[in-house]
Amino acid sequence: MKRVLAFAALAVCALAGPVTAPRPPKLIVAIVIDQFRYDYLWRFRTDYTAGLARLLNQGAVFTDAHHVHYPTVTAVGHSTFLSGATPSSSGIIGNEWFDRESGESVTSVSDPGTRLVGGAPGALGSSPHRLLVSTVGDELKMAGRHSKVIGISIKDRSAILPAGHAADAAYWYDSDSNNWVTSTYFMNDLAAGVKEINGQHWFQKYLGASWLPLDAKDDNAPPFCTMVNGNDSVRYCGSLEATPWGNEMIEEFTERAVMNENLGHHDDTDLLAVSFSSNDYVGHAVGPDAPEVRDISIRTDRLLGRLLDFIDQHVGAANTLVVLTADHGVAPVPEVNQKRKMPGGRISGFAMLRAVSEALSTKYGAGKWIDGGSDDGVYLNRKLIMQKKLDLEAVQNTVADLLKTQPHVFRVYTSIELARGQVTGDYVSQAALRGFFEPRSPDVVVIQDPYYLFSPTGTSHSTPFNYDSQVPVIFMGAGIQPGEYNEKIAENDIAPTLTTILRLEEPSGSIGRILDEMFR
Ligand SMILES: [Zn+2]
Repeated sequence: MKRVLAFAALAVCALAGPVTAPRPPKLIVAIVIDQFRYDYLWRFRTDYTAGLARLLNQGAVFTDAHHVHYPTVTAVGHSTFLSGATPSSSGIIGNEWFDRESGESVTSVSDPGTRLVGGAPGALGSSPHRLLVSTVGDELKMAGRHSKVIGISIKDRSAILPAGHAADAAYWYDSDSNNWVTSTYFMNDLAAGVKEINGQHWFQKYLGASWLPLDAKDDNAPPFCTMVNGNDSVRYCGSLEATPWGNEMIEEFTERAVMNENLGHHDDTDLLAVSFSSNDYVGHAVGPDAPEVRDISIRTDRLLGRLLDFIDQHVGAANTLVVLTADHGVAPVPEVNQKRKMPGGRISGFAMLRAVSEALSTKYGAGKWIDGGSDDGVYLNRKLIMQKKLDLEAVQNTVADLLKTQPHVFRVYTSIELARGQVTGDYVSQAALRGFFEPRSPDVVVIQDPYYLFSPTGTSHSTPFNYDSQVPVIFMGAGIQPGEYNEKIAENDIAPTLTTILRLEEPSGSIGRILDEMFR
């Protein structure tokens, strides 16, 4: 009996003993699918046969992974991915916000000190200068590793923010010139390989094309959309980015980058961050329940399969660590929800701002009281408040009190409340706190009721609710134990897990933990 117990104790020790992180791979492929809800993994599972199927079968699949900040939007999701930081330290509080210093609206990556390289001459460039923290790639570089760090996407923010400050390059697609571009922040002249790609004018093969469903029986089936503007019978796709072809271009560009940069063949680990943007454009237009979303999800599975096969061939599966996630989810289209007796609807942000403006004019006298808006709130005209010798807190409270009476407003926080931490302790307030960075955040933060949208058409995302916050997190590679992991994790856990595998310091703003339950 004693011996049985001793064996049992040994077995427990073996199970609970220290685990060693996998050895650093030659290449990390860090993939974001823009607006890819967690449930898309399972909704369309039987249709996946390629990349997503492989990740689900051979990867460590985290089934309860969330973005834990508010607002859940593209720039914030991408800045979190490889920094492990929340906006409260990264400074990336949204896609756009009102910059109090310059008095202008800025984007998360717009940088007047840079110019586009490869696009229209003299066009304004982008850089990571508003990102205040380091990324995994930055830690590689600061540690003096001989690594290449490259970011690729259709959107500038989605290429730049995961790659970080010290990256060798971030490339994105400029729809004005139909060229792949970068900015003078990274280099003054495009690499020869990228010039060659631009010379091939990939976009031309999609001119006038129609997006046919994969399920279409023949070419006469009704298309989802067409690139011919002014055709009343079929929806206009809008742009190349808003079709699966945007993702195809990203995949093709990524293959070229692997070859041109010789990724996975340097002394130390290379890092390739790729973000597939087209899922987001399509999702905004038609919503998660539309057949287009199923179709582009299946096409994404195939593209990822193609990319992983290519990397197997040129770098080797045993030398590669893949991590896949999304920057946020998305809400159902309100009208679709209403039909199935679910809550939801649309609220007018314009009407709300007008009500705020009128209330302030009535109480404090006429004036331009609002400076701007962002993904999550209202910026008050602080100069006017100072001129009139008003108390900022009193004015913020006036606005908050009014907004709380508006229909379908779920929570309102003033920046002074958030700065003092005077909020309730639930996860919604915690998300608002994590999303709050005083120098940049709005004066009054607004969160709408679940399933309610400020968008007049289609659908959107930004809330802390699960449909917006829950995303796939899958790791796959040597030393990773495949299977489903059901413990709740945060997107912020990805970056410190990677730096642990790389034997590096954690990125400077990371709040995540190491997902060592998946280490073999
Ligand atoms: Zn996004």
